[in-house]
Amino acid sequence: IDRSYNDRATQEKCVKLLLAESERLSALIERLLDWGRMEEGRKLYDLQPESVQQLVDDALSVFERATYQTDVKVSKDVAEGLPNVMVDRAAMADALANLLSNAFKYGGTPPTINVSAFQAADKRIIIEVKDNGEGIEPSEQSRIFDKFYRIDDRLSRTREGSGLGLAIVKHVARAHDAEIRLESAKGKGSTFAIVLSPVS
Ligand code: ADP
Repeated sequence: IDRSYNDRATQEKCVKLLLAESERLSALIERLLDWGRMEEGRKLYDLQPESVQQLVDDALSVFERATYQTDVKVSKDVAEGLPNVMVDRAAMADALANLLSNAFKYGGTPPTINVSAFQAADKRIIIEVKDNGEGIEPSEQSRIFDKFYRIDDRLSRTREGSGLGLAIVKHVARAHDAEIRLESAKGKGSTFAIVLSPVS
């Protein structure tokens, strides 16, 4: 018998790791099921007028729960008085949380993540997630939205992932008639944006 597992602190640590692992697996299964529903066209979106501030806060709390990273600093910049947007709040918050979690996974060391929301000159609402990571080559920029696609370099292999995150973001955006923008260059970080129409 290995006695090293007998002290209380070690046991507590093991339980914590097991809990985190089982939550990670549940989240992965949930994501696979969600994707299955989307592909089948069975995912229902309940579009309601929602506040952008609320949406961004939801996304941040989904991200914080998913990463268990209490010391990741995400700076937030939401313009005052933005009009509401028509969204399925849970689905859009999840999509934004996917962008935040990528910013964290593929961000720099330490990761600097910023989420911001503002109204463009054409009145549309832009919600952006910006990181200080490696950046993405132009040739990869559309492929990363394909299901299961991961950029095949050492970096993405060492990061957990299914290659489904951005495929889900694309699906959710399409269901909202939203545009996705990506601005990135190798070594310059990445900015992913979701562009929504304001509720008139
Ligand atoms: P996953 O993160 O599960 O691999 P995604 O669909 O979310 O899947 O992303 C696909 C791939 O796109 C990732 O494997 C990674 O190579 C690349 N990628 C996504 N977001 C970023 C980012 N912010 N910076 C650099 N590369 C990214």
